[in-house]
Amino acid sequence: MCTMDATLKYPWTERLIELHHLLPLSSPIRVEASTSSLKDIVGVCPSCHRATHKFYAKWLKDNSVGDFQNYEEARQVYMQAKEEIVLS
Ligand SMILES: [Zn+2]
Repeated sequence: MCTMDATLKYPWTERLIELHHLLPLSSPIRVEASTSSLKDIVGVCPSCHRATHKFYAKWLKDNSVGDFQNYEEARQVYMQAKEEIVLS
């Protein structure tokens, strides 16, 4: 998301990446799904991962809902977060 090259910032590391599930693992919708899909997973740096979850929480609060309606809605909110990142 932020395009940070972690190897420049933290030269002792090779890859600093976390897997983000577009539809949160805690979502009831996910429980109903029979399988997890690779299309649901994106790699992000730890800071972007945390910021994305905060964006999700803000979006849910702003929309007065407790969870996403479906995978597509979660994906759209993720894309919105990605667009709103301020790149330096
Ligand atoms: Zn990042």
